[in-house]
Amino acid sequence: MSNINVENKHFVFGGCDMVEIAKQYKTPLYVLSKDIIDERIYEIKKDFLQKYSNTRAVYASKAFLTLEMCRILKKEGIGIDVVSGGELYTAIKADFPMENVIFHGNNKTLDEIEFAVKSRVGRIVVDNFYELEMIEKVAKDLGEKVKILFRITPGVDSHTHKFISTGQVDSKFGIPLVEEILHKGIIKVQKSLNVELRGFHFHVGSQLFENTSHIKALDILMRLIKEVKDTVGFETKELNIGGGFGIYYKEGDDPKPLQYFIDPIMKDLQDRCTELNLFVPQVIIEPGRWIVGEAGITLYTIGSIKNIPGVRTYVGIDGGMPDNPRPALYDAQYEGVIANKMDLPKSKVVTIAGKCCESGDILIWDLKVPILESGDILAVKSTGAYNYSMASNYNKLPRPAVVMVGKGENQLIVKRETYDDLISRDI
Ligand SMILES: *Cc1c(COP(=O)(O)O)cnc(C)c1O
Repeated sequence: MSNINVENKHFVFGGCDMVEIAKQYKTPLYVLSKDIIDERIYEIKKDFLQKYSNTRAVYASKAFLTLEMCRILKKEGIGIDVVSGGELYTAIKADFPMENVIFHGNNKTLDEIEFAVKSRVGRIVVDNFYELEMIEKVAKDLGEKVKILFRITPGVDSHTHKFISTGQVDSKFGIPLVEEILHKGIIKVQKSLNVELRGFHFHVGSQLFENTSHIKALDILMRLIKEVKDTVGFETKELNIGGGFGIYYKEGDDPKPLQYFIDPIMKDLQDRCTELNLFVPQVIIEPGRWIVGEAGITLYTIGSIKNIPGVRTYVGIDGGMPDNPRPALYDAQYEGVIANKMDLPKSKVVTIAGKCCESGDILIWDLKVPILESGDILAVKSTGAYNYSMASNYNKLPRPAVVMVGKGENQLIVKRETYDDLISRDI
């Protein structure tokens, strides 16, 4: 992981001393490195957008979405995926260009569809035909022409945790690859004056270290693209291949550079298009975790240290499952360092316990640490994705602030919730 080093025995991230940042903003605290986000965006540009023509990159905003994040992406020309009216609203409030927004979701409500069509989002990815009918009607009533993609379930098992695999046949997402169903949908859209089908979308899963699922899914999609051209005369102009590129969380993780995924996909695509006599469609990628995951850390203050002789030592922190539900939800594993003791040898193994009234609120089961004292600062790494965006107020814990760091500077981008915020909507 780049951009991490040690100065004065302290953990330095984005050029800032994390012990000082913890003091200044208090804990728990999300810290996001602009430097790492910039590196990832640079890699997307160099190894995808500039290397291959007719390509687009769109950030899956469910990983982490704030106004500042929208502004960064806007400046870089990266689009945004949204999956709800709330995410769309955030993008609108950040003045994000709507033609660069893709609206996803497996059960969009009528209100959300109206909001998206009125806002003129660039694409709606249609998950099912119930939704398609609503889009038709809304577009007609508003006199709009809506550009859509069909989300296809390619039936690929992506070898990741079953809760975060979305490409297999038995999935709540997407249109199953059944000819009668799909042909009927395409023919219906071909007759529509208010909906224009541009192509297809698939997303095979998340946190992938291998490119095989993408490549298998691409192969299935290429056959589909050829088949629908021959049978119903539909010419595919866009192919959205989703996200899912894995990142480093813990020892043993083996994340690959973006080009490991991109290059074989683009080569296969071009080869198959030549072989099948098809136009090469525009290719869209949707990384979420890959852009922000390693860019984020969470700072906590250590409180109680409870040694159960011969069993384990529980180390209590001032946050837990409300700010990071992933260990409780998916057995997600994290690594951490003691930000104020970077020079000391790691001589102990402890369990990092959250402060919620749940035995399952354990952030890290076995973490190697130096000798600890209450008041030490724990920095948990790779918390940039699906932490802030999944946070809750369980046990009425206020959600942490978010600070962006980079090149030695720091800036508050989300304020810490207050006790008043917690009851502000109570009547
Ligand atoms: C979640 C999601 C992504 C991004 O997944 P990551 O694993 O964060 O890259 C991309 N596309 C769709 C449709 C998604 O639902």
